[in-house]
Order: sequence, then C-alpha cells, then structure tokens
Amino acid sequence: GLRCLKLNSVSRVCSAPISDPNHIRLLQWNLLSQTLGQNNDGFVRCPVEALTWENRKYLIVQEILQHNPDILCLQEVDHFKFLQTILGTQNYEGIFFPKPDSPCLYIEENNGPDGCAIFFKRDKFELRNFDTRILEVWRVQSNQVAIAVNLIVKQTGRELCVCTTHLKARHGSLLSKLRNEQGRDLIRFVKQFAGDRAVILCGDFNAEPTEPVYSTILNCEFMKLASAYAEMRAESDECNNESTKDKQALINGCDKVQKSIQNEPPYTTWKIREDGEECHTIDYVFYTKDHLKVKNCLEFPQGDEIGLNRTPSFQYPSDHFSLICDFEVLDSSNESS
Ligand code: NDP
Ligand code: CA
Repeated sequence: GLRCLKLNSVSRVCSAPISDPNHIRLLQWNLLSQTLGQNNDGFVRCPVEALTWENRKYLIVQEILQHNPDILCLQEVDHFKFLQTILGTQNYEGIFFPKPDSPCLYIEENNGPDGCAIFFKRDKFELRNFDTRILEVWRVQSNQVAIAVNLIVKQTGRELCVCTTHLKARHGSLLSKLRNEQGRDLIRFVKQFAGDRAVILCGDFNAEPTEPVYSTILNCEFMKLASAYAEMRAESDECNNESTKDKQALINGCDKVQKSIQNEPPYTTWKIREDGEECHTIDYVFYTKDHLKVKNCLEFPQGDEIGLNRTPSFQYPSDHFSLICDFEVLDSSNESS
C-alpha cells in the first residue's frame, strides 16, 4: 500500500511531487537481487511464488513509479536492462555498475552480476559526468562498488553530486572494520568527484548506526554530511508531544554523532532467515547540510502492516524498504564554505 511522505501525519495519500527545480525527491532502495533472493538468501518465511521475477517485477516498478522520484539510487540490481527499458519510457535515464565478482555469477540460473544503479529524470537534469569505483580496503580492491553522477538542474544551472554504494555484508568486528575502510575510500572518491557541489550519498551500508563507518561518514573532514532520516525525525520529534521531550533533552546533550544515532529509524530492513529475525537500520541517505535541506522523509510501514512473515512477501518485493527524501536545494548564499 501507499506510505505517506509526511512524518507523523495521519494522511495516507502521498503528496504530488513538486515541479519546483529546487525541489528534489530521491529514492534509495536495495531492491533485492533476483538471483540472490531466489537462490541464496534463505528467506524461510517467504512463499516461493512471491520470490519469482514474474511477481516481483511489477511490485518493484510500482514502488518506484508511485512515488515519482527525481533520482533513484538502487543496489542489488541484476535486471538493469529491464529497469532501463521500463523507466526509459517514464523519462528516466540510468547508469549501472556491476560488482567485479558478483555472487550471482556463482548461481546457475543467474541474470548476470548484481550492482548499483542511478537513474535520474532526463527532463529535470542533464548528466554532466559520472564515475564509478571499486572500493578499496587497505589499498586493495574489494568486491563492493560505488557510482557517482554530477547532475545539472536544467532550469537553474545548479549542480549536485549523487553517489550510491552497497558495502560488504555480514556481521563481525573484522567485517565492520572492512566496511569502515570502504567508507573512508568512498568519501575520498565522492569528494574528489563532487568538488564543492551539493552531495547526496546514499546506499545500503550494511552497518547499523553504531558501527564505525557511520561516524566516519558523519565526521568526514571534507564535507559536512548529515543523515536525512535522523535529521527529519529529530526535527519532527522536537515539535511533538510531551512524552518525547525528555528523550529529546537527553539526545540534545549528546554529541552530533550520538544524537544522529539516536534519531535513526528503528529499521530499514526486516526479514526472517533460518537463523532468525533481522530487523535493523543499515540503509542511509546522507547529504551536505550546507547545500540542501530535508523537507520530508517517507515513513516505513509498521509491523502490523508488514505482517508476521516480514519481508520479502507478496506485498513487499524486497527485504529492504525504500528510503524516500524530499530535499530543497538551498541558495548558494546559504553555503558557509
Ligand atoms: P557480500 O558478503 O557483500 O554479500 C553478498 C550478498 O549476500 C549481499 O547482497 C547480501 O545482502 C547477501 N546476504 C547478507 N547476509 C546474508 C545471509 N545471512 N544469507 C544470505 N545472503 C546474505 O558479498 P561479496 O560481494 O563480498 O561476495 C562474497 C560472497 O559471494 C561469498 O559469501 C560467496 O557466497 C559468494 N562468492 C562465491 C564464490 C564461489 O562460489 N566460488 C566466489 C566469490 C563469491 P545485503 O547486503 O542486503 O545484506
Ligand atoms: Ca540482500
């Protein structure tokens, strides 16, 4: 069903996107690789029929088109040509970069490697240039990638950089160190490519907010990055009822990173595998606060809407929810650098 873009709103209807050139709606989504979801993930509570491409492809397209985003950042894309064809008819242009040694390729009935993709509305933006990166860990290439695009807003000539990634999965302190190194490489790559432009950096970071990579990004010395959902939720909490005032007073006493951690949503993915239920926040939309303001973030469905078998399901084609944020591009005069 439809999710509403107003935080804490009772309305179930999504507002129509604004044609204002300084308004940008971004959708960030790990849409679940078809090959991995069907053959590798072990979603024990998901009916096998729900995992077929025949069922999933309509839900994926619907999830994207119903929100009418200006920019899409996607991970685990292993049907890029399909998306390019469908989204191509809807005014989108896209770029795909596969993982160098995608696990999909080791599964017999694969549809090619999975990777990251960025799509943007071609009537709103002109692509200035793009770059791709195989993320390095201790100067050695890993199996994780990033794409960055510099987009020109046609109506205003203003430029922004959008970058997406999918960091290494799995738990453990070594892997959390590895993700942190990937994050360090990622922000160097983004800064070098973006220069002084506004930046939106989003993806599946496979790391909860308490992991080192989260603070590495928020404490980045080259760019003043903030997390869109955390900022939005802090703001909406501040003008909320009495019961959250004490919580906010506590949070406000913390440093920037601690405050952001506290304000992240409770989950961006919710699934059941053989080893149990996993419900946590690992996907983020970071942005440069000097250039952009978050106006709205789409709330995630609640537990009772999702159902006891969680996701994926006949209702939700991926084990990750889409993150959707409305940004306002601020006047250059607001930029402090
Ligand atoms: P990652 O470890 O980053 O993960 C690959 C995918 O697995 C991700 O899309 C991830 O989804 C998903 N995943 C996460 N947790 C689980 C889980 N508990 N069960 C099932 N799937 C999960 O992959 P790499 O790119 O680093 O590739 C390494 C993997 O690729 C190896 O684990 C191996 O299985 C496979 N491989 C096999 C080879 C071979 O057969 N010879 C050679 C090379 C690779 P999400 O990000 O949403 O969590
Ligand atoms: Ca996955």
